[in-house]
Amino acid sequence: MKLTVLGSGTSHGIPVIGCSCPVCTSPDPKDNRMRASLYIEGNDGKRVVIDTGPDFRTQALRVGLKSLDAVFLTHAHADHVHGLDDVRSLSYEREIPVYGNAETLGELKERFSYVFRNTQRGGGKPRISLNPASSPVQIGGLTLTPIPVKHGILDILGWKISEAKAPFAVYLTDTSFIPRSSLDLIESPEYLIVGGLRVRPHETHFCFEEALSAGADIHARHVYLTHICHSHSHREIDAICRRFRNMAGSPAVMEPAYDQMELLLS
Ligand SMILES: [Zn+2]
Ligand SMILES: [Zn+2]
Ligand SMILES: [Zn+2]
Repeated sequence: MKLTVLGSGTSHGIPVIGCSCPVCTSPDPKDNRMRASLYIEGNDGKRVVIDTGPDFRTQALRVGLKSLDAVFLTHAHADHVHGLDDVRSLSYEREIPVYGNAETLGELKERFSYVFRNTQRGGGKPRISLNPASSPVQIGGLTLTPIPVKHGILDILGWKISEAKAPFAVYLTDTSFIPRSSLDLIESPEYLIVGGLRVRPHETHFCFEEALSAGADIHARHVYLTHICHSHSHREIDAICRRFRNMAGSPAVMEPAYDQMELLLS
């Protein structure tokens, strides 16, 4: 299986509109971060994405997406779902199932009411079905297991991504707390891709240190930070990760993710 980070930026993306800070004007391509999303290709050719934010169209074109077997959602904040309409061109042949928790799917019915009302006919709507996910979902050889986490007071989902006879990966974005029962589901992943917003603590997101600590606690072999804001450059965050790793004496690889980063699992 192959994972591709389609976007590694926080809700406004980097550069931030109107901002001329050193990170937003950086020439380093790794300081350009689209809204957070992950693309997964199974060994049997199945293709799924986690979250379809406002940059989904650009991300899909950049990665050469030709078909999509399912969409998995973490939650319904704008930076994670407002590109959902753009799965339309991939849904002509076949309806695309969308998986999320009940709260997320309820929000989608409001935001995308035109999709679910019978008033509009013709090709202007994506063909999607909404499927509540409370247990593992099988898409060909891929298994995506919902991992309940807290995003401030919101109950949202992370996803465990696995395939037979291979180590697994975990994607947790917009997380501020992982309940004990969820920690048990994600112990010892090969890859943890985890939201780490910035150095300073935040009410609804892990800061860098909290995200890296979560990786160390579950014994992830590789920890990659995503959903990153413009307070630090990729190089600076890389140094922060290295310092944390040395201080914690962790054997894990700890680095910031970047757009189009690819990770292989077999
Ligand atoms: Zn977000
Ligand atoms: Zn900036
Ligand atoms: Zn959010």
